Amino acid sequence: MDRLKIATVWQGGCFGCPMSFLDMDEFLIELAGSVDIVFSPIIDVKEYPEGVDVCLIEGAVCNRDNLEQLLKIRERTRIIVSFGDCAVTGNVPAIRNQLGLENAENVLQCAYIEHAQDNPTLPRDNGIVPELLERVRPVHEFVPVEAYLPGCPPSAPKIRALLERALAGLPLKLEGEQLKFG
Ligand code: SF4
Repeated sequence: MDRLKIATVWQGGCFGCPMSFLDMDEFLIELAGSVDIVFSPIIDVKEYPEGVDVCLIEGAVCNRDNLEQLLKIRERTRIIVSFGDCAVTGNVPAIRNQLGLENAENVLQCAYIEHAQDNPTLPRDNGIVPELLERVRPVHEFVPVEAYLPGCPPSAPKIRALLERALAGLPLKLEGEQLKFG
């Protein structure tokens, strides 16, 4: 049987979800024996590959870079898992949607001009800060996902349960309904 090709992707979020992934401890060794990690911030692969079996997407969709990457992932991946509350609901990054700032331009003005202590400058066209989307949104608002793994972060046992199901060849999507591990 072919080894499962697994990817992990960080979009708009913090380091909490990946740390919970690493908390699976000895199961990571078992996992290493039966899967190939083909794309992840912790390995040196620059281009998201074709033919990925399972991708855990952490974080909300906050900017154009996130969105372009997400659309490419959807084309090249069989099973997308919305991994953690930021991916599932928008969570912490989506707080900016509630600040009454209305759009991305106001967010930039607030962060880089009004609250700047030195050298107030908008990070426009500098190639460092990607163009913000008008609102932060969860992953499923842009692409279909096969499973949700809520939690902030999801616990290691929940991540393990999902991966064991994938390793056993059990579906993560049943008759049009996404599985929710939480
Ligand atoms: Fe961080 Fe929580 Fe968002 Fe995960 S769900 S990226 S732990 S804020």
